[in-house]
Amino acid sequence: MPKQEDRSASEKGCVVIGGGIAGIQASIDLADQGFKVYLVERQPSIGGHMAQLDKTFPTLDCSACILTPKMVEASRHKNIELITYSEVSSISGEAGNFKVRLTEKPRYVKREKCTGCGTCARHCPVEVPNEFDMGLGVRKAIYVPFPQAVPSTYTVDADHCIKCKLCENVCQAGAVDFSQKPVEVDLNVGAIIVCTGFDLFDVKEHYKNLGYGKYDNVISSLEFERLINASGPTSGRIIRQSDGRVPKRIAFVNCIGSRDERKGANYCSRVCCMYSTKNAILSTEHVEGCEPTIYFIDLRAFGKGFEEFYRTAEKSYGVKFVKGRVGEISQDPETRNLFVRAEDTATGTILTNEYELVVLSFGLTASKQAPDFSKWGLNVLKDRNGFYSSVEAATLPVDTNIKGIYVCGIAEGPKDIPDSVAQASAAAMRASLILSSSDATRATIMKRRP
Ligand SMILES: Cc1cc2nc3c(=O)[nH]c(=O)nc-3n(C[C@H](O)[C@H](O)[C@H](O)COP(=O)(O)OP(=O)(O)OC[C@H]3O[C@@H](n4cnc5c(N)ncnc54)[C@H](O)[C@@H]3O)c2cc1C
Ligand code: SF4
Ligand code: SF4
Repeated sequence: MPKQEDRSASEKGCVVIGGGIAGIQASIDLADQGFKVYLVERQPSIGGHMAQLDKTFPTLDCSACILTPKMVEASRHKNIELITYSEVSSISGEAGNFKVRLTEKPRYVKREKCTGCGTCARHCPVEVPNEFDMGLGVRKAIYVPFPQAVPSTYTVDADHCIKCKLCENVCQAGAVDFSQKPVEVDLNVGAIIVCTGFDLFDVKEHYKNLGYGKYDNVISSLEFERLINASGPTSGRIIRQSDGRVPKRIAFVNCIGSRDERKGANYCSRVCCMYSTKNAILSTEHVEGCEPTIYFIDLRAFGKGFEEFYRTAEKSYGVKFVKGRVGEISQDPETRNLFVRAEDTATGTILTNEYELVVLSFGLTASKQAPDFSKWGLNVLKDRNGFYSSVEAATLPVDTNIKGIYVCGIAEGPKDIPDSVAQASAAAMRASLILSSSDATRATIMKRRP
C-alpha cells in the first residue's frame, strides 16, 4: 500500500499539471499574486521541451538562458510547491473545492539529502540511452535528466537499475534510499490549470517512405536541437550518426505529420516553418560552407518578426527554400548520403537531390500523458485531435467547459513559446478569479506579497 500524506491546506490554492514553460509561467503568475500553487510534473525535472531547445526563433536567444532562471524562480518561490516525478491519480469536486490525489513515484534518493554532486552516477555501471538527448547520448541508471535540472536531486531509473548498490555505498550524504515507496498526496484546491504540452508525431509508423529509423542520417528536428546544443551529446558539433562526418548539404523537410489528412493530422503545427528556418541558419554558423535547403508546402511566417526572419535566412545566410512536398527519401548504401525526391510545385518538376543529412520537421500532437478527466467523472472536452478544447476560442480561450479547470500552452493546441507564455498568464488570471471568490482562499489573499 502506498503511504498517504494529506496536504489539504487551510488555504486553498491551485494545482498546475505539467511543468513546461506554460506550467512554470502560470505557477509564477499565481504565486506572485499570493496564491498557493502545487506544480505537478511527471518527469524528474520541470522544464518540458523548451529545456531541450538550443536557440529560439526569431531572435535566436539561448533557450536555456531564458528558461533556467524561471525554473529556479518557480522552485524558490515561497508560494510554489514543486511536486515532481508525480502524476494525478484522481480528481473530484467542483470550482472552488477540488480534491486532487497525486502519486509521487519513488526516486530512491532523498530529496532533502541529495546535494546533486553526481558521485553516484560516476560509479554506476549501467548506461542507457538518454531520452533528454533523444537517445543520441547516454546517461547512467542513477541520473539527472540535464545539468540545469530543477530539482537537482538524482533519480534511480528502476527499469534499468541492476541493484548493485554501488551508488548507495559511495554517496557521502546518505541520500540513496531503496526502501522508498510510492506516496499518495491529497490536495484540496480551488482551481486546476492543465499544461501537459505535446508529443512529437509518430513518423516511424506513418511515413516509412521517409526512412526515419531506417537510415541513420535521417533525423528528427528535436534530435537536431540536441546535436547543435553546446551541452548536448556532441557538445554542439553537427555530425552524422553513420560515420561521425560533418555534413555540409543538409535538407530540412517540413510538415511531417502536419497538414496531411491521409496519413497525419489535418492541422498546421505552427512552429515547424520557423524552427526549421532557425536550424538552417544555425547550421551555417556551426559548419563552414554549409548549404541548407528547406522543403515546405507553404511557409507560415505569421508571427511578429517571422517574415523578416525568413527573408534574412534566405538573403543573409543563403538558405535555399523549395516549395514542394517530399515523397520519398532513399539512401546510397556506400556513402550513406540521402536522395530526397520531391515535386517542386513552383515549376511543376520532379526533383531528386542528394544530401548528407536530412532533418524531418515532426509535427506536434497532443500528449499521450495528458489526464483523461472523464475517468474521474469530469467531462473536460477535447477536440478531434486530442487537444483540450476551450469553451469559446474567441473570448474565453483558456476556459474549459468545466468551471475552475483551465488549459494553456500546447495542451490546448500547437503554439510557440511566446504564445504559450501569454496563454499561461491568461489561465493564471482566470484561475485567480475563482480562487479569490472562494471563501476558503480568503485567508490566502491576505498573505499576498506587499
Ligand atoms: C524541434 C522544436 C523546436 C522548437 N523551437 C522553438 C523555438 O525556437 N521558438 C519557440 O517559440 N517555440 C519552439 N518550439 C515550440 C516549443 O517547444 C513549445 O511552444 C513549448 O515547449 C510549449 O510549452 P508547454 O509547456 O505547453 O509544453 P511542454 O514543453 O511539452 O511541457 C509540458 C510538460 O508537461 C508534462 N506533463 C505531461 N503530462 C503530464 C501529466 N499527466 N502530469 C504531469 N506532468 C505532465 C511534461 O512532462 C512536460 O514537462 C519548438 C518545438 C520543437 C518540437
Ligand atoms: S545521491 Fe548522493 S552521490 Fe548521488 S548526487 Fe545525490 S548526494 Fe551525490
Ligand atoms: S544500484 Fe542501480 S543506480 Fe545504483 S549504481 Fe547500481 S545500477 Fe546504478
